[in-house]
Amino acid sequence: MISEKMRPFLENNSAIRMMFEEGKKMAELYGADKVYDFSLGNPNVPAPQKVNQAIKEILDEEDSLFVHGYMSNAGYPQVRAAIAENLNRRFGTKVTEKNLIMTVGAGSGLNVALKTVLNPGDEVITFAPYFLEYRAYVTNYDGVLVTVDPDEDTFQISPEAFRAKISAKTKAVIINNPNNPTGVVYSEDTIRALAAVLTEKQNEYGHAIYLISDEPYRELVFDGAAVPFVTKYYDNTMVVYSYSKSLSLPGERIGYLLIPDEFEDSETTIEAATIANRISGCVNAPSLIQLAVGRCADCQADLGFYDRNRRALYEGLTGMGFACVRPQGAFYLWMKAPVKTGAAKSAAEAEDEFVQAAKKYHILIVPGSSFACPGYVRIAYCVSYETIMNALPEFQKLAKEFSL
Ligand code: PLP
Repeated sequence: MISEKMRPFLENNSAIRMMFEEGKKMAELYGADKVYDFSLGNPNVPAPQKVNQAIKEILDEEDSLFVHGYMSNAGYPQVRAAIAENLNRRFGTKVTEKNLIMTVGAGSGLNVALKTVLNPGDEVITFAPYFLEYRAYVTNYDGVLVTVDPDEDTFQISPEAFRAKISAKTKAVIINNPNNPTGVVYSEDTIRALAAVLTEKQNEYGHAIYLISDEPYRELVFDGAAVPFVTKYYDNTMVVYSYSKSLSLPGERIGYLLIPDEFEDSETTIEAATIANRISGCVNAPSLIQLAVGRCADCQADLGFYDRNRRALYEGLTGMGFACVRPQGAFYLWMKAPVKTGAAKSAAEAEDEFVQAAKKYHILIVPGSSFACPGYVRIAYCVSYETIMNALPEFQKLAKEFSL
């Protein structure tokens, strides 16, 4: 018999994953080029050539026992040093290898961070709409996720709404910048305001409140937007990073957790996080790809590819009358479901009606409820440009059906 804790997960199996499976079935039925699958954040840009090159060189140059062996639980010192050097150059920080723990992607980095700081019953605040796995991750350590409703005008963080949710039980706060699913980049003003509330509340309650900044999309920004490096604004910050999106390596499972010296009891916290990494069962991040990202610390994502998709989709859809948030980061477009809500129809029902109608045109999009924000849909534009161009006439039919 499976555990009581697992039962709800079985019942609410991720809508995004189910949509992905449905997309594969539809592709078999209608042909892959007739299905417009915008459901999953699986990058359609190949990893930079340098990553493949680095893997080949490592295999040719290094001793096989070393390449495939265990290493320190925090990861290879030279890999962490290369990443630290890159961060210091770009963000003016002063981190060293000892501040970094290599993790099995951001998913594992978040779990390590939460395992390190949470006691049962501790509250963790996050901001809707949010990556729904946060709820599962917090529950893994018997924490309680508390959510702040969105400011639907800007989808930036509202300091007042945030302040209203903090209590003496708040142990940590998770932000995601650039944001999945809205594509919004939290501005420097937003981060400053967030840090001011956190500092005020730490002083009021007399204990630390940790900020966990989840940044797998950090480099994916457009229109000259800048993503503030949060450790510079608030000392008790951990940064979770992943190469899944920035270097198109989601299946390789590689990322890191950064805990700066300014963090409360940083040495003990880093030691605890390193142990958390080990006893979570990951032991250490995968060796070969870890060595490869160490050699590719300065590699860049192909921003031009995403930017072209972003412009085509945003301009195409808003031109048809859909209400969308102009994305500045990540590779998601956040759209209001064009269905009237009211006493007879909830936001979740409205959004579902729209998602189902889109399927008639072979368009797969994710309901906002999958991000705890009903009434919206997420369109992942990390697909080929052709998919977008072929989907636009179908979106036009959908717009017509909803009288736009
Ligand atoms: N955080 C956010 C906001 C994400 O969108 C994702 C993946 O889509 C993750 C974390 C997990 O990333 P990873 O593949 O590195 O585990």
